[in-house]
Parts: sequence; C-alpha cells; structure tokens
Amino acid sequence: MKRILVAGGAGYIGSACTEYLLDHGYEVTVYDSLVTGHFDAIDPRADFVLGDLADRDKIISVAKNGHYDGIMHFAAASLVGESMTNPSKYFRNNIANGINLADAAVEGGVKSFVFSSTAATFGQPEKTPIEEHDSQKPINPYGESKLCFEKILNWYSQIHGVKYAALRYFNAAGATENFGEAHDPETHLIPIILQVAAGTREKMMVFGDDYNTPDGSCIRDYIHILDLAQAHMLALDAPESGHYNLGTGKGLSVFEIIKATEKVTGKKINYEVAPRRAGDPDVLIACSDRIKKMLGWKPQFEDAESIIASAWNWKLKNPNGYRR
Ligand code: UDP
Repeated sequence: MKRILVAGGAGYIGSACTEYLLDHGYEVTVYDSLVTGHFDAIDPRADFVLGDLADRDKIISVAKNGHYDGIMHFAAASLVGESMTNPSKYFRNNIANGINLADAAVEGGVKSFVFSSTAATFGQPEKTPIEEHDSQKPINPYGESKLCFEKILNWYSQIHGVKYAALRYFNAAGATENFGEAHDPETHLIPIILQVAAGTREKMMVFGDDYNTPDGSCIRDYIHILDLAQAHMLALDAPESGHYNLGTGKGLSVFEIIKATEKVTGKKINYEVAPRRAGDPDVLIACSDRIKKMLGWKPQFEDAESIIASAWNWKLKNPNGYRR
C-alpha cells in the first residue's frame, strides 16, 4: 500500500484529494497548520500532524520518519487579489516554505512530488485554450510564486531525482459529499454566489464588466475538485517529471456562472457591477489534452451546472461551513 504525505490536507482541494486517495486504498498523513484549513475538513481516516511548512525541522522529520512514496503539496497562499497587496506573504509561503517541503522530500527519500500549480503562471495568455508550453508571464505575485516553485522543482528533479508533476489548475470548484469550499473571509466566485442564494449575503459584486469578452466579465474554466483529485492520483505514478494543465476546456463568464447558479438553486442572485479586481486576466481556459493522453485522465464533470449543484448540495448540508 502506498503512503502519501499531503501538505495542506485540511484545505479545500487538499481535503478532497485526501478523501479520494483514501477511497483508492492509499495511506495518508495530512500535514497542515490549520491557519486557513479546518480540522473538520481532515478525513478522519487520515493521520494528522499539526505543523507549518515554515517549521523546517518538523516537516523534514515527518518526511524522514514516514517512509512516504509521494508528497502532495497544497499548502500555499492562493488569493490573486491579496497577492497584489501583500506579495511578501506569497513569496514566503509559496517559495521559501515550499523549499522546506522539497528538502523534506529529498531528505526523506520521497520519489514523487505532486505540486498544486495554477493557470495564474500564464498571466495574460497569448492564445486560448492555453497549452503547457505556452509562455508563462505572471501578472500577479501569486502566479509568480507558483511559477518560481515549478522551476525549483525542475532543478530538484534534475539534481536530486525527485520526480515532480506540476498540475496547473484553472478554477477549482464544486464539492464532494463530505468536503467543500469554506474560506474565511470568502473571496471565490461560486461560494460567494451561493451565499447570496442561501440568503446569508445580500448581493455579490461582479468585478469588472469591461473586459475583452463577449459580456465584458472575466471568463474562467471551472473544474471539479474530484477531477483534480483523480489527476493528482494519476500524477503520482507519472513515468517522468512534467507539467499538466487541468480544466474542462470550456470558459464561462462571471455573468454565465450567475445564471447557471440561478438555474441550479432556483434563487435570484442580486449583483452589482464593481471595478476590476487587480491582477485578473480577461480569459483563462485550459487545454488539458496532455494529461488525458499521457496519464489517462478522464474528467467526470464537464458542465458548470453539475459542478455548482455539487457545491450547493454541500452548502445545504453545511450552511455555516466547517465547525472548527
Ligand atoms: N469574481 C467576481 N466577484 C467575486 C469573486 C470573484 O466577479 O465576488 C470574479 C473574479 O474577478 C474572477 C472570477 O470571478 O474573474 C473567479 O474569481 P475567483 O476568486 O473565484 O478565482 P481566481 O480566478 O481568482 O482563482
């Protein structure tokens, strides 16, 4: 049985991946500081170590003692807007603390490292959909920090033989039966719209209606977290290091997501158009042919309504998110 260390396993995507690995017969240790993650988001079948990646000695000792076959790295700061006001947090958390985890992989003899990268590494894309080898010119410190860590992993792969997969998620969305999205404060589009649908938020803001898109709002590619989880599991056994884009290949504007949410929930969504949010490119859509071809990835959720429905289902069961 394979043993996996999941850094950030109490977060939104990390919790779903932990559950998915456990469902597929892996043993999992979650390492999480619980600064943004939730204790109740840790699958009870997993072992749990409370720790911060800034604690270099701790993460190295956990990796050395755990005899892990793989490490998954979800433990990062991930807000584009915040990165434009506090770049230091992004470079420290996502690069400096990430290096502690990469060193832990080396010291612990862990052979496979799966990294949560992002579409934000591409910046304002030159063409759409975006392919893996397209030019990467981030337009915010979040994307820059993730691109920098991709390059660090590349050197660790060449020098130390730690095989890595950088999975560039586009917009992670949806929920499993047990785990969903609950940030505090919430900044992400779908959970914010669902708060309006649930009546706990009066209205939402559409950040910009003057983008270069048909309806003027930003277009993103929303991918279900279970499809991301499947990609992580496949990436553990990739024959060599590589980069993979992960999306559905379909773009939806903010206004289209509002309409789809109204259809799924049967509620009217109040919104107001607000100024653009700093650091947002007009359109981000993934070409995911490479991971389908190389690793046999088969996404199950193709349309926004089924993704939103899963998030709504989780919200109805957990109206206040996680208790702790
Ligand atoms: N967005 C919005 N209103 C909100 C939150 C987000 O209009 O309250 C827009 C945001 O500008 C972006 C898209 O929705 O174009 C997705 O944003 P989110 O924060 O969910 O994910 P990101 O693209 O930053 O990873």
